Amino acid sequence: MKIVIIGSGLAGLSAGYRLCRANEVLIFEKDPDIGGMSASYSIAHSEKKYFIEKYYHHIFRSDSELLALIKELGLEKQMLWLEGKNAYFVDGKNYPMNTPVEILHFSPLSILDLAKLGLLVLRIRLIKDTTPYDRVKAKDWILDTAGKSVYENFFAPLMKSKFGDNAENVSAAWLIGRVKIRSDRGKEGEKLGYMRGGFNSLIEALAGEITANGGEIRTNREVTEIMIKDNAVEGVIVNGDFVACDAVISTAEPVVLDSITGGKLGALHDTLRNIHYQGTACALIGLDSRLMGDGNYWLNIKADVPFGAVIEHTNFLPFEDYGENLVYVTSYFQNRKSPLWTQKEEDVIDSYLKGLERMFPEFSRKDVLWTKLYRRIDTAPVYEQGYLEKVLPFAAGPSGLYLAGMFSSSNYPERSMNGSVKAGFESAELLMKEKGTKS
Ligand SMILES: Cc1cc2nc3c(=O)[nH]c(=O)nc-3n(C[C@H](O)[C@H](O)[C@H](O)COP(=O)(O)OP(=O)(O)OC[C@H]3O[C@@H](n4cnc5c(N)ncnc54)[C@H](O)[C@@H]3O)c2cc1C
Repeated sequence: MKIVIIGSGLAGLSAGYRLCRANEVLIFEKDPDIGGMSASYSIAHSEKKYFIEKYYHHIFRSDSELLALIKELGLEKQMLWLEGKNAYFVDGKNYPMNTPVEILHFSPLSILDLAKLGLLVLRIRLIKDTTPYDRVKAKDWILDTAGKSVYENFFAPLMKSKFGDNAENVSAAWLIGRVKIRSDRGKEGEKLGYMRGGFNSLIEALAGEITANGGEIRTNREVTEIMIKDNAVEGVIVNGDFVACDAVISTAEPVVLDSITGGKLGALHDTLRNIHYQGTACALIGLDSRLMGDGNYWLNIKADVPFGAVIEHTNFLPFEDYGENLVYVTSYFQNRKSPLWTQKEEDVIDSYLKGLERMFPEFSRKDVLWTKLYRRIDTAPVYEQGYLEKVLPFAAGPSGLYLAGMFSSSNYPERSMNGSVKAGFESAELLMKEKGTKS
């Protein structure tokens, strides 16, 4: 059976990997590189050559499908579990946020508010099913359970930096999912997972398996139409050419799927148009010296700067792996009108560097070795109140059309590499079952 997969992110590659042994798999990727949101830069300088994700990535111990896949591909020895120190920068001061004792010293909150925050976290940890919280706004739920001060001084800036103008519409289900995963730290604190050499190894291993089994991955190929006749998939149009196939798995953003099916997916049409995605403008900066001398990996920010977090990768992974300091400066944005999308690349970088100068008096532009900016408009669904009803099924309706990606149930209520691997596998399994083909 000939199967076309739209997109070479983890969902597309995982589906292709499952299907490639018994089927003809053809993956079309519109970008020049494979990997989608988990794609990497290849950096070379006089001392080192290495891969580093265009967007910061780490994983959690609960990412079972992803970890099983890493093992299956023989990459387990690359897995590292490391401490990634967190802090919250509020009004010019850094507050470490790694242990309960440190959180108790978060002075923007009173002792009473800290107690309310602690109770909220405990309550969240006891919640097994987030479904009932999907219809409730996170803001309202925090105000009701922990009060105004906890909301305004703790959660609101974090939610603003994650969802911008949409922050107040985000569901309590998203917040609960997020807090659950971040508060599951064990006694020795939170350990985050990373593949030494980068997640590029995973992307390359999947691509290698697909091509070794006769599959093909073609980059710079945008699918502009999925041809459907008599409610069954016939093929796709790619760079103007018709490619016939028996089935299609689409991992593209829902509005793109709506457009390339000509709005013909019946009941799904409105849903596809109503799933809002947000963009990310993420700078990666190579530095001659450390930015956060206190060893922080992840710094959330409440300050008047055009980004929401600073992530010092080389305070997480050993500096020796790279031979230079690597810092991400990043912000989500909500639509194409955002200056982070409309401004020239160098202007976004300049605004980020100015922000760093304001936050870190010791930072000097002289230490900047190089900068890169990766910005995309399609980086995450916004988990608004009522989002659960919009989670897309793995089968889209017409015979032979399957869906997997950040919009799938495995990526609710927060998208992740694990969720996309799982979505890729689930779509492939459904395809095999319905079409009577093998893996
Ligand atoms: C800033 C950021 C940080 C993240 N950090 C983490 C993290 O720390 N841990 C974690 O687990 N996850 C993280 N994620 C999430 C993770 O990267 C994603 O959930 C996952 O990689 C998505 O994979 P996907 O295949 O579902 O989608 P994508 O990676 O978006 O793949 C879809 C692909 O389809 C292609 N495409 C779209 N339309 C077409 C078309 N018409 N024709 C051809 N190709 C098309 C796109 O170019 C893209 O390559 C992060 C994401 C971002 C943006």
